[in-house]
Amino acid sequence: MRGADRAIHSWGGLRAQDSQTLAPQAWIDDPSPRSGPVLAYGNGRSYGDSCLNDSGRLIMSRQLDRVLAFDRETGLVTCEAGVLLDDLLELVVPAGWFPPVTPGTCFVTIGGALANDVHGKNHHRAGTFGRHVRAFELVRSDGQRLTCAPDMNNALFAASIGGMGLTGLITQITLQLMPVASADMMQEAIHFSGLDDFFAIAAQSDATHDYTVAWIDALAGGRHFGRGVFFRANHAPPSGAPQHRQPRSLPFPITPPVPLINGLTLRAFNWLYRTAQPRSPEPRRIPYRPFFYPLDRVRDWNRAYGPGGLRQFQCALPMTHARDGVEAMLRRSQAAGEASFLTVLKLFGDVPSPGLMSFPIAGATLTLDFPNRGARTEKLLSELDGIAIAAGGRVNPYKDARMLPATFEASFPHWRDFAAQIDPGFSSSFWRRVTGG
Ligand SMILES: Cc1cc2nc3c(=O)[nH]c(=O)nc-3n(C[C@H](O)[C@H](O)[C@H](O)COP(=O)(O)OP(=O)(O)OC[C@H]3O[C@@H](n4cnc5c(N)ncnc54)[C@H](O)[C@@H]3O)c2cc1C
Repeated sequence: MRGADRAIHSWGGLRAQDSQTLAPQAWIDDPSPRSGPVLAYGNGRSYGDSCLNDSGRLIMSRQLDRVLAFDRETGLVTCEAGVLLDDLLELVVPAGWFPPVTPGTCFVTIGGALANDVHGKNHHRAGTFGRHVRAFELVRSDGQRLTCAPDMNNALFAASIGGMGLTGLITQITLQLMPVASADMMQEAIHFSGLDDFFAIAAQSDATHDYTVAWIDALAGGRHFGRGVFFRANHAPPSGAPQHRQPRSLPFPITPPVPLINGLTLRAFNWLYRTAQPRSPEPRRIPYRPFFYPLDRVRDWNRAYGPGGLRQFQCALPMTHARDGVEAMLRRSQAAGEASFLTVLKLFGDVPSPGLMSFPIAGATLTLDFPNRGARTEKLLSELDGIAIAAGGRVNPYKDARMLPATFEASFPHWRDFAAQIDPGFSSSFWRRVTGG
């Protein structure tokens, strides 16, 4: 990055304020907390302030970038925490292995994926990332280097998975990959006409497909309210044909002075997106990258939101209130004139995570992206928080930049159990904001 863009920021565009950066080894050599709290910073793909530590220090964990061992027979890989998922994919996919859980971007570090216990389109089958972590090394500010595993330092194992970097610096991770027969996916795109259809198709598809997710046309009202396209896929069998070329990304050239995302572009995008999806029910064989990482085709696409950045809202709702809660949120966004650019709806399964602060709960998860228009956006997001909490749900902390302490408390009523495991030398802007700690 060049010029002003060299500043450290989160994906939603929050800039680190008054933060010093330091190399992992420099901190490991002198981890004493005397000069303010530290926090690891991975690749900054968290949307809000959970990866920031204003007036503190950030350990730039991407410098821990070596793969230490990869067993091609068992699919067990050990790597340093700053290795990018993108780089891991290049190594393991040609060998017939795949990450058991992947988020919607491959530009995350393995340490960041663990610390947020990320979920993917296969949550209903595979649960979260943390379920597949066999062990990791955690360095604490008192100088201890601890191996954490389900049967070793297990309280710190549970607290660090989804612990948002607050339990110490994760230096290396051992992950169990899953075997795949090819680098392709068999994908189906099913157009649906409303939320009831979504829930019916999702329930049916979760029984037959490893990966399921839907895009909702958030602008559609009247009889089209809740329409969208449902994507479901399984890994493809071997084809015998040469491997598809996996498309890589192009950069988004500039940050425009005003957001390019507005009512007009949104309407055009939704129309294009819907019409671009094939209407044939036949599964199509496609490379894995466009299926898992469609947004990664344009690097730094968040720049399209202009200098104010974007605010993402993600909630998880228990199944009993999922249908009504989702409808209420979509209607509220429309009424506020703030329909979201990318609206994603998915069912979470009931596969438990070993992580104490893991975000998913069985039910549905709705994700909305809004250009940040200041107080107007804040007001809407607070209303969405209220709907989520009233429905017995929770708001995702690593997508958040503004939830109130009461929302966090209602989302994670057990957070004080977690707080007992936090390293006293670590903190984040998010944590201080929601707990005052
Ligand atoms: C386009 C896009 C799509 C996404 N899709 C999904 C999705 O489908 N599912 C999902 O769950 N998330 C999703 N996310 C969010 C993203 O996967 C997570 O925020 C991820 O954790 C970011 O990883 P990172 O390496 O960028 O870490 P950062 O954002 O830099 O940091 C994340 C957290 O990890 C901690 N951390 C990082 N490295 C270490 C370390 N070495 N030791 C200790 N703590 C550490 C940080 O302190 C911070 O709390 C998406 C984000 C984007 C931009």
